[in-house]
Amino acid sequence: DLKRNDELGELTLTFNQMLDRMQSYTEQQKNFVGDVSHELRTPVAVIEGHLNLLNRWGKDDPEVLDESIKASIQEVSRMKHLIQEMLDLTRAEQIDILYPDEVTKVEEVVHQVVDNIRLVHPDFEIQLDDDLEPNTNMKIYRNHLEQILIILMDNAIKYSTTRNEIIISAASNESTVNLVVQDFGEGISREDKEKIFGRFYRVDKARTREKGGNGLGLPIAKKLVESYHGTITVDSLEGSGSQFKISFPRNTK
Ligand code: ADP
Repeated sequence: DLKRNDELGELTLTFNQMLDRMQSYTEQQKNFVGDVSHELRTPVAVIEGHLNLLNRWGKDDPEVLDESIKASIQEVSRMKHLIQEMLDLTRAEQIDILYPDEVTKVEEVVHQVVDNIRLVHPDFEIQLDDDLEPNTNMKIYRNHLEQILIILMDNAIKYSTTRNEIIISAASNESTVNLVVQDFGEGISREDKEKIFGRFYRVDKARTREKGGNGLGLPIAKKLVESYHGTITVDSLEGSGSQFKISFPRNTK
């Protein structure tokens, strides 16, 4: 009888844990829908404002017409970007732990992403310190590694205010691959450091909006990194810059 009680107790416990998990999942979904609606409200309101303006009298004024069209196109492209990032995040969140068959040459990806960023930002000095062991391979989807690096480098550039310089370091040993993206920009306060990996979190909403930020980049990067048992951390000093570090276990066996 004692044994049966134990079993029953265990079952109840498991059941309650399941319920808790379901509830927290539903809660998260609800929050997500709320956040999304909130994020879409601003661009929709801006476009609506311009259309109303044009409808009332603006279409007869070439200057207003021109400005309203430009502003509306900008808002639409912002929304497109937001929708793409939401899709990326949802996809990343559906991943549990990944063990792909695809073997990716880390060196190749790092160099390729850095080359591309250099092309897009010729005004930046982008240094690459490559200390990767020869033939550093990882079982990771190439596009995931690319996406993670692009998010961190894009941010480093977006939030560099005074010094147009970023440094990317890549290193590996038997057990890990380490990637670091360092900038000398505005930095992140201690309180914000814990929040920036949360969905839709932006330190300065208005300023970030100007830069086209939705607050989804870091949550996507974090989720992807963790799908490969990796870790992502940030060191930062307000006013002097930030250093984002990724560490992956090597898993090519
Ligand atoms: P966003 O698209 O807004 O950049 P992220 O999720 O990538 O979204 O980043 C969230 C917030 O973290 C940013 O809005 C910014 O305030 C802060 N942040 C991210 N990277 C950096 C960085 N390299 N330097 C300073 N602040 C940063």
